[in-house]
Amino acid sequence: MIEIQNVRKSFGSLEVLKGIDLTVAKGEVLTIIGGSGSGKSTLLTCINGLEPIDSGKILVDGTEVHAKATDLNKLRQKIGIVFQQWNAFPHLTVLENVMLAPRKVLGIPKARAEEIAVKQLTHVGLADKLGVYPTRMSGGQQQRMAIARALAMSPDYMLFDEVTSALDPQLVGEVLDTLRMLASEGMTMICVTHEMKFAREVSDRVAFFHKGVMAEIAPPAELFGAPKDPELQKFLAATH
Ligand code: ADP
Ligand code: MG
Repeated sequence: MIEIQNVRKSFGSLEVLKGIDLTVAKGEVLTIIGGSGSGKSTLLTCINGLEPIDSGKILVDGTEVHAKATDLNKLRQKIGIVFQQWNAFPHLTVLENVMLAPRKVLGIPKARAEEIAVKQLTHVGLADKLGVYPTRMSGGQQQRMAIARALAMSPDYMLFDEVTSALDPQLVGEVLDTLRMLASEGMTMICVTHEMKFAREVSDRVAFFHKGVMAEIAPPAELFGAPKDPELQKFLAATH
């Protein structure tokens, strides 16, 4: 599980995480909603150790992410992260892009890495795109490739940061369907999203961030049905 204990983080004089406490259990799907600049992306990058924290603790399966002795490369292998946009290597095919990390990072032999990549690309519905170059695909297909690439490392956790925000509206659905599928398979996921319908349907719990504070966290029926925090009420009124 992921345990976040009183995490604080500033960029210069701007405190962007003001004491976050949050535990995500194995198999749980947590979505994070909140306005721009509320600290959502920063939290995700702290969880996989891309960003240092100022105080508090983040534990992944009991390993303290920011402890000096922690092997971050090893830890990151179990935490897949997918961003709004991923720049695939344009001179490599979709298959080669997805094979790359298993080969280079895990040292898996080529034939086995190919098997893994084919399996994950098939899983996200891209079995017919193996030999295609990434720039030839739609934004939705590229995001599904990015998900396959993360899955090819056999992560225990997946972090998604607004993976549909850069997509044309008609491409959002296919990517959300992929996330739904992962959730139904029991993947432990933290999804930062603006898709409220998705958050409502897929999440075990939804967290609302406001100005570096987790202002509310509850199961979706409760958070959307009877929001308590006044800022959350405003936020929901503005997004509906
Ligand atoms: P969100 O994802 O909720 O929109 P972010 O976590 O990206 O918010 O950002 C929170 C705040 O931290 C914003 O004010 C943003 O400008 C600032 N910030 C994020 N990353 C950096 C950085 N690397 N350097 C300085 N400020 C940053
Ligand atoms: Mg963000």
